[in-house]
Amino acid sequence: MIEKAEELLQKIYGYSSFRTGQQNIIENILAGNNTLGVMPTGGGKSICYQIPALLFEGITLVISPLISLMKDQVDTLREMQIEATYINSSLSALEVRSRIAQLADGKVKLLYVAPERFESKEFVGLMKELRLSMVAIDEAHCMSQWGHDFRPSYRAIGFFLSQLDQQPYISAFTATATPEVIEDICTLLAIDTEDVYVTGFKRENLAFSVLRGVSKSDFLKEYLQINQNQSGIIYTATRKDVDLLYDYFSSKGYSVGKYHAGLGEEERKSYQEKFLYDDCKIIFATNAFGMGIDKSNVRFVIHYNMPRNLEAYYQEAGRAGRDGDPSECILLYNPRDVQLQKYLIEQSALTPERKSQEYRKLQQMNDYCYSQRCLQSYITSYFGEDIADECGKCSNCKDDFEKVDITVEAQKIFSCIRRMNERFGSTLVAKVLKGSKDKRVLDFQFHKLPTYGLMKKQTEKSIVEMINMLVAEGYLSLTEGEFPVVKLTPSVLPVLKGEEQVFQRVKKQYETVVEDNELFEQLRQLRRDVAAREQVPPYIVFADSTLRELSQQCPTTRADMLRVKGVGEAKFEKYGFEFLQEIIKYQEKRG
Ligand code: ADP
Ligand code: MG
Ligand code: ZN
Repeated sequence: MIEKAEELLQKIYGYSSFRTGQQNIIENILAGNNTLGVMPTGGGKSICYQIPALLFEGITLVISPLISLMKDQVDTLREMQIEATYINSSLSALEVRSRIAQLADGKVKLLYVAPERFESKEFVGLMKELRLSMVAIDEAHCMSQWGHDFRPSYRAIGFFLSQLDQQPYISAFTATATPEVIEDICTLLAIDTEDVYVTGFKRENLAFSVLRGVSKSDFLKEYLQINQNQSGIIYTATRKDVDLLYDYFSSKGYSVGKYHAGLGEEERKSYQEKFLYDDCKIIFATNAFGMGIDKSNVRFVIHYNMPRNLEAYYQEAGRAGRDGDPSECILLYNPRDVQLQKYLIEQSALTPERKSQEYRKLQQMNDYCYSQRCLQSYITSYFGEDIADECGKCSNCKDDFEKVDITVEAQKIFSCIRRMNERFGSTLVAKVLKGSKDKRVLDFQFHKLPTYGLMKKQTEKSIVEMINMLVAEGYLSLTEGEFPVVKLTPSVLPVLKGEEQVFQRVKKQYETVVEDNELFEQLRQLRRDVAAREQVPPYIVFADSTLRELSQQCPTTRADMLRVKGVGEAKFEKYGFEFLQEIIKYQEKRG
């Protein structure tokens, strides 16, 4: 059977081999066992149920949490001439009826629905008649109370299955592998432990970085300037920051969009579409953005603020590089973000038990930002998987930072804080060091301190940044609450005595995520035109990695083009000629 599966993989998807784990999972499903596949985002879970669905007789029902995701999946399948459809609340009653008729005619191999569908008796009745060969549950962690996206409607799946006279095969997939979640899913779906396949959480193509003590806005300006042709997501904690950043970069002529819950439904949708269709390259968003997108060619994800835990971080950052191409995940650390998250937990309606769990997770997120270990292996060990080897590309593995000695500045800051009796926030400390005539400075008589104006050559903002960095490095600490006070920690003593130096890490040089050639740009333009014509997002026509391979290998015949990763027969029939022509034209022009 697995040979047949491999044949389909090549012929339909245009991929030459299964990835780690995919083969085991598919074999186990084809052997008739209920199976749980745990694989990271972008690991290739869809193929694990799509290929068995094609090999089984009859219909596979795919349960997926989001309507937007469903359309994307179905479009992708249709591009490959696979009979797939979805039924959900976005369709008119008439459209639903016509799709049901297609189902009854046996014209459909994969049917996508959201679990809310099971509330309809009519639908459940239909499923009983159709005799499903398999039920595949995508994003299965939504079933578990322990999961970060628990959805009560997912609980209806068990009841739905119990109503069927003939039990279909069951397969479930998730990227969340905490033991509680796995146990929950297995219990709810009657999956044996030996049928759970955890393929590892490492994302080979992602380079993680944590930047502490840098100016966030300077970093963004520099980074986006050199990477503005790539698709990227910038997550911020607040709507206000989304708006500010969006305004700034759009006024500078960047191709940007934005997304947060404060925008109208229409506006949100329009930005999301533009992003999907590569009509805008970079999107500023709160964490409301992303659950529903499957854009595979996101080259970088930058966190402007630290998220609340590593699950959330890995999921959001993991939206980079789903196509397997090199991509970057950068977290800009500022201790204030920890305060904000603490505040949010405090304000939440969680039980005391859950609150303390959330605090623990926040602490682990914070530790990630200070860890000296390989960041990729830090994350995988958080998920219970210890890998010995280092990734070689995260900011700790690479360490392409220069150390700048800031001992003197640090001493000035420390002594100023001490003279102000450790009772004020970083803004006022910065004002005193700057020598500001601010009313509060004068009211408190701080202009009489010997540290007043000690750093007058610097801007107030850069002094605040430096204070933040010293907090991040553990020399200073912030009190909790809305107006955090800066305090000294015991680590400042050796510095004040002149026994220890303080260094700031400054990145040597920023680089582009990927370097593309001219033909790639031309093919990308062609892909945009084709996608607009077909009314699907460009990455559904061909992945970035496919374009890249085309632009490097320059195939000029059908056989050569079919060897390129991501070019299956159906896609070749549809678009092959246009792309070959473009390549030939380019070569002729180049001689
Ligand atoms: P997941 O659902 O696990 O996040 P997807 O199923 O969306 O991941 O797959 C991510 C990407 O990897 C898709 O572009 C898919 O076509 C690609 N992919 C999956 N399996 C393979 C494979 N065996 N070889 C090459 N690319 C693959
Ligand atoms: Mg998926
Ligand atoms: Zn590493």
